[in-house]
Amino acid sequence: MVAENSGHITKQIFVIGGVVSSLGKGITSSSLGRLLRSRGVRVLQQKLDPYMNVDPGTMNPFQHGEVYVTEDGAETDLDLGHYERFLGTPLSQKASVSSGQIYQEVIGKERAGEYLGECVQVIPHVTDEIKRRMRSQAGDEVDVIITEIGGTIGDIESLAFMEAARQVCQEIGQENCMFIAVSLVPYLKAPKEFKTKPTQQAVMLLRREGISPDSIVLRSELPLAESIKDKVAAMCGVKREGVISCPDADNIYMVPKQLHEEGLDSFVIKRLGLKAHELEWGEWANLMEAISNLKGSVEIAIVGKYVDLPDAYLSVVESVKAAGFGERVKAAIRWVDADECTDDEKIASLLKGCDGLIIPGGFGKRAVNGMIRTLKWARENNFPALGICLGLQCMVIEYARDVLGLKDASSTEFDPNTENPVIATMEEQKAVIAGNKDMGHTMRLGSYPAVLKEGTKAYSLYGQKNITERHRHRYEVNSAYRKRLEDAGLTISGTSPDGELAEFAEVSSNLFYVSTQAHPEMKSRPYAPHPLFRGLVQAAIEHKKEREEK
Ligand code: GLN
Repeated sequence: MVAENSGHITKQIFVIGGVVSSLGKGITSSSLGRLLRSRGVRVLQQKLDPYMNVDPGTMNPFQHGEVYVTEDGAETDLDLGHYERFLGTPLSQKASVSSGQIYQEVIGKERAGEYLGECVQVIPHVTDEIKRRMRSQAGDEVDVIITEIGGTIGDIESLAFMEAARQVCQEIGQENCMFIAVSLVPYLKAPKEFKTKPTQQAVMLLRREGISPDSIVLRSELPLAESIKDKVAAMCGVKREGVISCPDADNIYMVPKQLHEEGLDSFVIKRLGLKAHELEWGEWANLMEAISNLKGSVEIAIVGKYVDLPDAYLSVVESVKAAGFGERVKAAIRWVDADECTDDEKIASLLKGCDGLIIPGGFGKRAVNGMIRTLKWARENNFPALGICLGLQCMVIEYARDVLGLKDASSTEFDPNTENPVIATMEEQKAVIAGNKDMGHTMRLGSYPAVLKEGTKAYSLYGQKNITERHRHRYEVNSAYRKRLEDAGLTISGTSPDGELAEFAEVSSNLFYVSTQAHPEMKSRPYAPHPLFRGLVQAAIEHKKEREEK
């Protein structure tokens, strides 16, 4: 585990949460990743999820929020999206580990007789497998791995992860490994005091597992006084420079700066003896400048089925915001429940004041008719619309129903017996599904190339012919209907390189009516907005201008 051949040791930082969940461990880890990168340290990140699901791919968005897909096709936790957006480096499936994966591996080995008759136990067999994965990204090209452990200190299910982290630290050496606890400092109104006791208790719990934090990031609603930080340092036995205050920020992309001003990167670099240069913000400086200089605004509607659950479309939201940063406007989101989009009048009133809409990805037939009606309204009113994955499928169904007159056109996902399956299971997926009794990992997943058609909106936005995007779907445009759709004016503006799969569709004569079978939101970066989202926001700005002139 220690000896990477050249003598180079990839160091490891574990980020652990105390007191409550949802403290922003993911943003803290990502921000630290960005800071270290900006100082010339080669960083990779990783998320360990203690749940027993093998991956979040089969989990309900209510439970889990968005499923983030990596280039190599892993279905992962939404924190991977934060990591990639902050770090700007694509991560692999090694960056996402769950208890389900660990146990599947250990039980598989046990069944195959690989433990040679030993009694298989949490320690050492499960912890060994966890350690192997914690170190799987180590190598000559990596200086540090930042590993975030999901859940909260004291959770029964994360105990094996804590023990494995402790052992990794012992094996690679204390000097090469550190622990950062992210903790809550609540403010009590009546006594007008910040309270450090929950943090002290979280650190006590952590010590019980044999782990002493090197640094504590204190999350609070308001900035903390120096005296509070002094107290945490004294009571928790942490160096004063290791106590970092991180109050709520207006914008998550400002958190790296906040942590830098508190000295987190310098503390970590010193503690781990990393070679680093002075901070060079680079592209992040432009981003922060853009965020503080937004002029004007547009509102983009996300017409979906999880409107009370923004995390279900997290990367879509971040992509819209990023496109706004690119155009120097505040791009706000309006959540519209597709189920409420029952007729034109209702749709017009739900979208009043918006200048663009997105039909995001999704599964199952609930709310699909509302999405289709909304797209018809958008197409007929030249209202900017971007369809993502399911959104492309709805665009095709709508066009087939309304323009080709195929009233029962549908996807076999929603209506297996439709006479006009304009969207159907992909041939290659049929084999995958048939050969697999499980639901997990039976989709077309990860990065695939596509070729864009010259003269289309998609082509002009990307500014190139050959592109790649990430995918997560089972169904596709049925090629039997492609010619009819194209003849009737729906342009298939991009396909797989062999021409078989429709990857993009658009009505080129509209201001912006574009869709893709892929998930472009996975590749948008806050400082490098994705061309499709940028195109939507540009169209929205134009639409707003025209609307206000009228
Ligand atoms: N349910 C559709 C499919 O599986 C769309 C998937 C998605 O939007 N991610 O093809």
